[in-house]
Amino acid sequence: MTAPALLEVEGLKKHFPIRTGLLQRVTGQVHAVDGISFALSAGETLGLVGESGCGKSTTGKAIIKLIDPTAGEVRLGGRRIDGLSRAEMRPVRRDLQFVFQDPYASLNQRLTAGQIVAEPLRNFEQLGAAQRRERVAELFARVGLRPEQMDRYPHEFSGGQRQRIGIARALAPNPKVIICDEPVSALDVSVQAQVINLLVDLQRDLGLSYLFIAHDLAVVEHISHRVAVMYLGRIVEIAEKRTLFAKPLHPYTEALLSAVPVPDPRTRRKRIILKGDVPSPSRPPAGCHFHTRCPHAEPRCRVEAPALREVEAGHGVACHLR
Ligand code: SF4
Repeated sequence: MTAPALLEVEGLKKHFPIRTGLLQRVTGQVHAVDGISFALSAGETLGLVGESGCGKSTTGKAIIKLIDPTAGEVRLGGRRIDGLSRAEMRPVRRDLQFVFQDPYASLNQRLTAGQIVAEPLRNFEQLGAAQRRERVAELFARVGLRPEQMDRYPHEFSGGQRQRIGIARALAPNPKVIICDEPVSALDVSVQAQVINLLVDLQRDLGLSYLFIAHDLAVVEHISHRVAVMYLGRIVEIAEKRTLFAKPLHPYTEALLSAVPVPDPRTRRKRIILKGDVPSPSRPPAGCHFHTRCPHAEPRCRVEAPALREVEAGHGVACHLR
């Protein structure tokens, strides 16, 4: 039996106006997120993957309302949160936290690491100073930092350690869901694996759910239970990780996967090089957004947008040929 959805996203859109001229008239819209739907269950990790500019980070920010969505519905534990004001969102953030891509930019450089991790505790918990310090020390140990490092400033830590501080801060209010926005992209490859393993351990021990955003399928392979692939603001394929890696159905997923190294040289994949660049989301191609780069495009692909259809249980794909 499938676990009930904890986070539900339905028809989410985020369009940014393009303003030009002296009067800053709106002359167009950037369709950063163009009507995407998915659900995340308790204890599950959904990897959200695509090239830069596909709208995946905007999706994460719109869910947690760091930016306001243009349309669509977001539910957390069955309660709609997309229309809440910033003040109304504050208690929701206890359950829904965010880990940023750049741990250096996202940490207040004037606060010590301990003060940064203590901030959510001040907002959400009624603790005395000694109890708060004790809880911060626990969180430090939980993410693999030494409690005696609490009084150091962010610049005194390595990139991987700074991301651990960001994770400890997200964990502080005991959230149910954490949106991880490219949490390892800025880190060295050797450190990436350590941070991903930490997130896997935390999920196992605390039952967390992650929306794990990355531009690289290889990064989401270890951590995700399911994977959604985005292209120009739309989800083009979504499936269980094993299914998606073994039997990708969308030509874009096939191309992304062909670039993922395989450990066994006998099963090496044939690299698919896509022609051209990702078109601008301010002028996405009509019909299937992918038709300008798709090796299998047909005339109807230029005019008719394929819907995301479930072609087998739990496997959705948006392509006329599937
Ligand atoms: Fe390619 Fe057409 Fe399928 Fe789009 S709908 S992925 S252009 S074959």
